[in-house]
Amino acid sequence: MDILVSGAGMAGLSAAVNLGTRGHRVTIVERSTHFRVNGSPIDIRGDALGIAERMGLLERIRDRRVDMTEQSQFIDGDGNVVVRVPVEEAGDSADDLEIAREDLARILADALPADARVLFQDSVDAIADDGDGVGVGVGVGVRFVSGRAERYDLVIGADGLHSAVRRLVFGPERDFNHHLGYYAAIADMPGEEPRADRVNPIYNYPGHLAGIVRYNDTTLAIFMFRSDPIDYDHHDLDAQKDILAEAFAGHTEWRIPDLLAAARADPELYFDSASQIRMPSWHRGRVVLVGDAAHAASGLSGRGTSLAFTGTHILAEELDRSGGDHLAAFERYEERQRPYVDFAQHSVHGGADLIVPATWEAIRARNERVLASAGSRPAGA
Ligand SMILES: Cc1cc2nc3c(=O)[nH]c(=O)nc-3n(C[C@H](O)[C@H](O)[C@H](O)COP(=O)(O)OP(=O)(O)OC[C@H]3O[C@@H](n4cnc5c(N)ncnc54)[C@H](O)[C@@H]3O)c2cc1C
Repeated sequence: MDILVSGAGMAGLSAAVNLGTRGHRVTIVERSTHFRVNGSPIDIRGDALGIAERMGLLERIRDRRVDMTEQSQFIDGDGNVVVRVPVEEAGDSADDLEIAREDLARILADALPADARVLFQDSVDAIADDGDGVGVGVGVGVRFVSGRAERYDLVIGADGLHSAVRRLVFGPERDFNHHLGYYAAIADMPGEEPRADRVNPIYNYPGHLAGIVRYNDTTLAIFMFRSDPIDYDHHDLDAQKDILAEAFAGHTEWRIPDLLAAARADPELYFDSASQIRMPSWHRGRVVLVGDAAHAASGLSGRGTSLAFTGTHILAEELDRSGGDHLAAFERYEERQRPYVDFAQHSVHGGADLIVPATWEAIRARNERVLASAGSRPAGA
């Protein structure tokens, strides 16, 4: 089949690899000028590890795994350590591999079949689905923002939380987006010396978090802040930088000004709401959604990429099994993927209270809880 995949994130690349290696002709359209590879390291967990193995990628992923034995420390406004987070709560395990986004994107891109087409700097603008039948002329007509017009047997929306395919085929984002009450940003901090003590400091004041994460030779500034939904253009990076600066305005404690300067300077800043996409169905006609476009669980779940892996693998497998009956395949895909999604989406409950407590009292209570837990030591102990 001729299949269009909208979005070249982890879900889009994984869909293209799974479908392309099964003999489908795949075109990927990516809005950006390049594969977007920034952001903090990502986890591959549970059944997604088995899928990476079946895709023939597990060894390469293991070779590039990030050593996450760094210890997180909650610090005060002067940078003094208040609580050390036990390493076993922060590290990975046999059931969980952590890898840099850029490495996983490269591994997936290298695994694309030679005839896969990648169209950068373009996006779907209109989708006309001719229905579920078979035969000459039946398929999906797609017009791109560039003016290009093409026909496909199937269209896969893998274009993330703010999916264009979802908007065009299923309706406006507000019908499906459940805001979890805060925003997150991640910026590169080039020029930071890697620290030998392998410690990641995290500073909280009510409703806010600013911190530093280090892995390999990379240093990242991370931010979270509680907020009601903010109306802004998701493709306007300067607007996102302004929102972030305003959220932390007037705060010069610890290294907040340095971190904000790094965010301002980063041409690839990651900024988004913590949101979940909840939909009663992920397919309509010949169009199907995968990854965050279908079922974002939010960064707090740590399972976005694992969900992208399981979903795209199941989808490709079911298309094979159904012998081209895409409706039967889409239904089986939903049935098999749904339990993974439900688990991941439910797993985030209470996470924000731990990471971004709303009051000083809640920050102190959180610190005491962590202090009381096994392996934690007060500063200097
Ligand atoms: C740059 C970036 C950094 C991230 N960093 C983190 C992080 O640090 N922590 C975390 O928890 N999660 C992060 N995420 C989200 C995380 O990658 C996903 O939850 C998970 O990997 C599932 O990926 P996805 O492919 O479904 O969605 P995404 O990773 O969001 O990928 C969607 C892709 O589609 C492209 N796209 C969007 N709209 C269109 C369009 N209209 N037409 C064509 N292409 C389009 C985007 O440029 C992107 O490449 C990040 C996402 C991105 C894009």
